[in-house]
Amino acid sequence: MKKIVEQNQAGMDESLIDYDVLVIGGGIAGDEAALKLADVGYKILIVEKDLSIGGRMILLSKVFPTLDCSACITTPKVSETARHRNISIFTKTEVKSITRRQDNFFDITILKRTRYVLETLCTGCKECEDVCPILIPDEYQYNQVARKAVFIPFSIAQPRIANIDIDNCILCGLCEKKCPSDAIDFTLVDTYEHLVVKSVVLATGFRLFNPTVLSRYGYGRYKNVMTAMEMERQLAPTRPYNSVLRPKDGKMPDNIAYLLCVGSRDQTVGNPICSQICCMYSTKQAQLLLGALPMADVTVYYLHVRAFGKGFCEFYNQALSMGVNYIKAKVASVREKENGNLILRYEDFSTGQVEEQEHDLVVLATGILANAEIESVFKGEKLELDPYEFVRQKDMLTNPAITSISGVFAAGTVTGPMDIPDTILSAGAAAAEATAYLKKLS
Ligand SMILES: Cc1cc2nc3c(=O)[nH]c(=O)nc-3n(C[C@H](O)[C@H](O)[C@H](O)COP(=O)(O)OP(=O)(O)OC[C@H]3O[C@@H](n4cnc5c(N)ncnc54)[C@H](O)[C@@H]3O)c2cc1C
Ligand code: SF4
Ligand code: SF4
Repeated sequence: MKKIVEQNQAGMDESLIDYDVLVIGGGIAGDEAALKLADVGYKILIVEKDLSIGGRMILLSKVFPTLDCSACITTPKVSETARHRNISIFTKTEVKSITRRQDNFFDITILKRTRYVLETLCTGCKECEDVCPILIPDEYQYNQVARKAVFIPFSIAQPRIANIDIDNCILCGLCEKKCPSDAIDFTLVDTYEHLVVKSVVLATGFRLFNPTVLSRYGYGRYKNVMTAMEMERQLAPTRPYNSVLRPKDGKMPDNIAYLLCVGSRDQTVGNPICSQICCMYSTKQAQLLLGALPMADVTVYYLHVRAFGKGFCEFYNQALSMGVNYIKAKVASVREKENGNLILRYEDFSTGQVEEQEHDLVVLATGILANAEIESVFKGEKLELDPYEFVRQKDMLTNPAITSISGVFAAGTVTGPMDIPDTILSAGAAAAEATAYLKKLS
């Protein structure tokens, strides 16, 4: 890496600095923080472990409460991030260690995993995909369709560069022969690199609750029980099919149930907190389903509907007026009939009675969990987490972007569940704090 040798006014050796800020995670929080910092002239590196930036948002259908197309909002943002002259992006890359130096900068070790594709040569033409004989479940469509062993993750991926899933590749060489750009190279290897940065923004986002833990709802056993994220993909412009289909038999559903708070507000699974977004994304999906399947009935089984944000109450009322049926109930179990339909057994809180209801598709609104893996990369300093393993904010009310480590800031859902508008605000706060920190350093 090129080093510029000069001493700054404070006597610090700038020769070692590769980037002003390392942003870890290229979701909407990381991209927003990077853009804000790059616009004021700082040199930013985004390290994203996945194949594309854009995080979860780039995979969503529409967004509550405006019902704007998520891809249409995300795509310009990720393109601006990728094209910005002050931003570099490493995808398929992980941060292995972060250590504070004596001069207060950070030594960073990253692991760049190879795609077996030369990034500068690949044009994203997908000719390699056409000839690859291997079909395996497509994780970007939440395993609802197949992808090839060489693949571009999705049509609006940024960067649009192929990747070879070497674990499933049979090394037949067909893609290598077909590639018109000679971009495929099986001799490429993973590489470690060392960098020095002045500051770090953590934007590693969240994980989703795994609903197989709650076996009473049948996820993983009954094919017509799916997660809301799987439904997001079915409703998205880059969806796997042209319509909404039941997984078991490909039939268009006409009586769909939503179960809220699956893995949220539930001490029995160790997650007592509210995920903040599930009520609203279920209300959004219910409206989108009524648009996609005009003859369908949609019932939402809820404990409380939390419609607290700007425009949320109106959005909920809109769903009611469209005919979405809300039942205040605790669902005890789901069982499958021979035809793939599902019987929900629940306590109706308005009557106190135990009832049963048949639906032909059940969607689980799974909760948000912390993605705490980044904690372990800090050497010699402790990144403090809150009791639910989200990054602890120094002061939630007055300093929400400041972490327990000086010079390390937090953006978006790495600090707790939040929707997109709050994520953008949080990323702006992290960028402002990082700017103030960098100004004091110089
Ligand atoms: C089903 C569903 C529907 C939703 N619908 C809406 C909606 O309609 N409206 C709305 O406002 N919000 C909605 N949301 C919430 C929205 O997805 C989040 O608010 C938003 O994605 C948070 O962005 P983020 O950047 O904080 O996290 P993420 O989107 O999770 O991005 C984090 C990024 O960091 C990367 N990363 C993770 N760990 C590492 C690591 N160690 N090193 C490098 N990179 C790493 C990840 O690969 C990812 O790209 C929905 C969420 C779900 C689950
Ligand atoms: S070499 Fe691997 S990725 Fe390429 S076509 Fe054959 S199986 Fe697919
Ligand atoms: S690797 Fe080659 S064939 Fe595949 S998308 Fe890139 S340029 Fe096209």
